[in-house]
Amino acid sequence: MADAPAATTPWQEGGWYASAHRLASPNFGPRPAGACVDLIVLHSISLPPGQYGGDEVQRLFTNRLDWSAHPYFEQIRGIEVSAHFYVRRDGTLWQFVGCDDRAWHAGASCWRGRADCNDDSVGIELEGLEGGPFEPAQYEALAHLCPAIARRYPVRYVAGHEHIAPGRKQDPGPGFDWPRLRAALGWPAEAFPPGTR
Ligand SMILES: [Zn+2]
Repeated sequence: MADAPAATTPWQEGGWYASAHRLASPNFGPRPAGACVDLIVLHSISLPPGQYGGDEVQRLFTNRLDWSAHPYFEQIRGIEVSAHFYVRRDGTLWQFVGCDDRAWHAGASCWRGRADCNDDSVGIELEGLEGGPFEPAQYEALAHLCPAIARRYPVRYVAGHEHIAPGRKQDPGPGFDWPRLRAALGWPAEAFPPGTR
């Protein structure tokens, strides 16, 4: 007779989410000692902007993008960036950096009184165009992923890149439906940026 199945965790060592496609990025480092990972930062990205379905974002985050393949890529030539997660238009999930480590998604930033949000946040990129709408499948993916992150880390806040780097960044922008995310998560209003509640 088999015993009842043991409680399973969706997390693997280092903060890798079991149901994401795993593609390790070299663009990461250790978090500072004692970092309190209490923030999820949402972004939008598509390469070239507004074109969906290719593998350019995966290439960017693994330093394998052909900068000469599109005029837009010349504008970002040489940048070394990453995020923990990437949610495609159909909700498919990719992961590039284990959440125990520090991904390079936020840049100069400040939120809940603390600067350099890369130190103590999890970064999620949504495939999309800054300011444009996002797909139901992407909200569904967030509705599973954010609580999973919050079970492993002491998450208390969700914010957009535009909120943690105001004036410098505009993603994900006004096309992102914050009330929809809040309803899906059921987290308190205080978890979300002022103006999105
Ligand atoms: Zn961003």
